[in-house]
Amino acid sequence: MKYISTRGQAPELTFEDAMLTGLARDGGLYVPSEIPQMSHEEIAALAGLSYEETAYRVMRPFVGDSFTDEEFRAIIDRTYAGFGHAARAPLKQLSPNHFLLELFHGPTLAFKDFAMQLIGQLFQTALERRGDRVTIAGATSGDTGSAAMEAFRGLSNVDVFILYPHGRVSEVQRRQMTTPQDANVHALAVDGDFDDCQARVKDMFNDFDFRDGVKLAGVNSINIARVLAQVVYYFSAAVSLGAPGRKVSFTVPTGNFGDIFAGFIAKQMGLPIDQLVVATNQNDILHRCLSGEGYYKGETKPSVSPSMDIQVSSNFERALFYAYGQDAGAVAQLMDELANGGFDVSQGAMQALADTYASGRASEEETLATIKSEVAASGELLCPHGAVGVKVANEHRKADVPMITLATAHPAKFPAAVEDACGIHPPLPPRMADLYERSERVTRISSDLATLEAHFRKNIAN
Ligand SMILES: *Cc1c(COP(=O)(O)O)cnc(C)c1O
Repeated sequence: MKYISTRGQAPELTFEDAMLTGLARDGGLYVPSEIPQMSHEEIAALAGLSYEETAYRVMRPFVGDSFTDEEFRAIIDRTYAGFGHAARAPLKQLSPNHFLLELFHGPTLAFKDFAMQLIGQLFQTALERRGDRVTIAGATSGDTGSAAMEAFRGLSNVDVFILYPHGRVSEVQRRQMTTPQDANVHALAVDGDFDDCQARVKDMFNDFDFRDGVKLAGVNSINIARVLAQVVYYFSAAVSLGAPGRKVSFTVPTGNFGDIFAGFIAKQMGLPIDQLVVATNQNDILHRCLSGEGYYKGETKPSVSPSMDIQVSSNFERALFYAYGQDAGAVAQLMDELANGGFDVSQGAMQALADTYASGRASEEETLATIKSEVAASGELLCPHGAVGVKVANEHRKADVPMITLATAHPAKFPAAVEDACGIHPPLPPRMADLYERSERVTRISSDLATLEAHFRKNIAN
């Protein structure tokens, strides 16, 4: 199994190298050279298996020779051991044929733990074997950062620097990033918005002197290993509801397009997915693009669902790569146009996107109203991201196909918005109840590239 860049100008890599590299050297994103298939029988055989066994069977073909069977099994077992629910990704019913996939039982209460905990274990195993170290740079709109710090803290061969937009993450998100005391994890509060943070991380990767000097690695949602980890719960959820004998649909609260793209991979592998619905908040560039309006950047407007407050959606490049029939030249051209504000999608590619994805948006009022109405209807307390999903899912449901909405974070990560919406204060799970008493450690820093690079060089601990 080889991995190729969406822009066609970077070397083909193994799974391990693609994972350790993150962003390809031509600025593109790695995708598998071909997507492995699972037969009807192989999918049916997942029924009743543990999450770990499902994860092993779904991901094994993507990993190739990078890890042995035994190594990979042991890694998966360690990955999910710290989750607070035996099913790892349990389904809850909201209404007839509408289900919530709870992806917030990991250590930082958001779905990012599914992939990040796995990456932590994969990096550790690979780096120890190589006798090597890396510096991880990540941009976060809130949840990636804490998930990465939690996954890598205390490891001896990794430093983690996380850039988050100062003042634009929730207090729980901030505290989850600023309270780990391990010397190898570094929280940076950047003066700017999430797109600035993401752009600076990309700039660092494109500064080859710096990149090679500090051995930069990326674990943002562009990392192909993260996408693959997220493919697993599409299978576990669908099989619980009768797949492959029956089609299911998914609605995914979307920001950087990593989670929903994992759904696309699941579908390409053979999982019978009817609709894959992209749900956006008021930052709706993806919904506008999928509605045929082209992909043009606007201003990011802070919302009650901050983990989806972005304009440039990194993983959308992968969706475009497949929509353009794997034409890397066409993708490279679009990304050049994006640097100058945006691009129109060709008619053929638009058709391919429409065949794969549906979309919708939720305004701030609609998001809060959905939290209120859902707790009244089913007793489920949604986080604002899940509420965006439920609102859009309700617009796409069909009577004869189960709809699964991804609940991407625990409501207690966004207590102010939830309380505003419905008057209920969502408590933190007991294992995190002392978060507000822990002391914080953070550096406020400008979004200037040279300043950031100097800070990295000076503070690497390992
Ligand atoms: C990251 C995140 C999202 C968006 O996921 P993408 O893979 O970036 O599309 C949605 N909800 C929550 C809670 C998140 O943390």
